[in-house]
Amino acid sequence: MLFIPRILKDIALIFAESGKQSFLVGGAVRDMLRGEKAHDFDLATDATPEEVAAMFCALGRSVIPTGIKHGTVTVRFKGESFEITTFRTESEYRDGRHPEKVAYAGTIEEDLSRRDFTMNAIAMELPKGRVVDPFNGRADIQNGVIRCVGSPLERFGEDGLRSLRCVRFASQLGFSIDKETLAAIPQTLSITAKVAAERKRDELDKIIGSRKPSTGFLLMEQTGLLHELLPELAMCRNVGQKGGHRFDVLDHSLLACDFAAENGWPHEVRLAALFHDIGKPVVCAMNEFGVRTFYRHEREGAALAKNILSRFRYSNTVIDTVVHLIKEHMFQYDEEWSDAAVRRFIIRVGEAYLPNLYKLRHADAFATAGEPPSPDFLTPLMDRASRVLDEKKALSRKDLAISGKDLIALDIKHGPRIGVILHELLEAVLEDPELNAKEKLLEIAGKMEDRARQTPTPPANPQKT
Ligand code: ATP
Ligand code: MG
Repeated sequence: MLFIPRILKDIALIFAESGKQSFLVGGAVRDMLRGEKAHDFDLATDATPEEVAAMFCALGRSVIPTGIKHGTVTVRFKGESFEITTFRTESEYRDGRHPEKVAYAGTIEEDLSRRDFTMNAIAMELPKGRVVDPFNGRADIQNGVIRCVGSPLERFGEDGLRSLRCVRFASQLGFSIDKETLAAIPQTLSITAKVAAERKRDELDKIIGSRKPSTGFLLMEQTGLLHELLPELAMCRNVGQKGGHRFDVLDHSLLACDFAAENGWPHEVRLAALFHDIGKPVVCAMNEFGVRTFYRHEREGAALAKNILSRFRYSNTVIDTVVHLIKEHMFQYDEEWSDAAVRRFIIRVGEAYLPNLYKLRHADAFATAGEPPSPDFLTPLMDRASRVLDEKKALSRKDLAISGKDLIALDIKHGPRIGVILHELLEAVLEDPELNAKEKLLEIAGKMEDRARQTPTPPANPQKT
């Protein structure tokens, strides 16, 4: 018998007092049966959404009609949220995304039969804990198998997201996929193609957030989902690399993503690791010695990653961060770098991005050799960058000891010329931080102006000859 948290028993009592049934369903039951902590509680009931709302509103609880069209309301109870859905069946999935008709069902068994996988089609009656398992989901959980409820072809044909969910669960839980279920994925790709980008993104995020994302992506490749969703990544297969690289571009990218996941690094770093070399198949060329080159792949990769992330409607913050990390991932530090070069590197990357860029490079290095790089391979650059930052020497225009206003006071006209001068002053200060004092900068600016005045400016609208 499973342990039932007190809060679920309290909720069940409210249903019972109105003569209604309540069942814990979905991921919570699956996770409890796996011996894991359940993270969110979904309940199913024979009460209609209006009845559920009335029951809880009467007790002063807030009820939010989150998915009222599908029979779902969210109830806030003792500091937690519960999604409560009326037993339902679904039929006629005409667009491959959403059922055309949602009808209420009479029994929990009927409700379970519309669910995707046997492991997700188990209910636990509250408050006592009787388990309802019409599709032998418990045995599948025990054997670590993901299997569709009923015919896989039919189930994936009804809702094209299910095949992606299947691969996502395999990646998250480390389960294998039943043969017939797996075989149905390539046959229903055209249905998956119709699914809204946001729903697919949520699944991709869960794969990337799993302990070993490569499991999910390799299953996607094997079933054609990778080509359907991320053709740019699928194209990296068999793009071989020289110079210390042990893997083709696809395996290298997946390994980098796994490394970032294994270390618990932020989502943006994992995305950047996955896509950092995505420009390589596009710029791949052969030089005169017959060696493959990938010149400027980081620029091409940044542009492609921007397309991909926009296609999946990622937020602008995520897009900007990932694209920037990819664009900057090819820095080649050596001790010969002057302090000015280190300062320029910091400005180009941006101080806030440095920790994640170092992580990305670490993942990249790991995925090149297939083994951890020496732990201090980035330390010389990191040390120098933090020294430069500690010295608080000017690193951006706003750190200069003068501003545009000081230049205007020098009789320099308001307009683009101010920007040009500030830029040159910053360049000078990057070379020699000692110059960052008001009098010195004003003196340099004055000289620049004198020089500009002596050089005749071309006419604004040169006559065509
Ligand atoms: P998790 O929340 O851990 O990602 P979950 O199994 O709870 O996993 P949810 O998306 O929260 O997944 O859905 C709750 C339940 O609803 C599932 O367990 C499943 O029974 C059912 N379900 C969700 N999406 C679908 C779908 N596309 N087709 C059929 N049933 C689904
Ligand atoms: Mg859930």
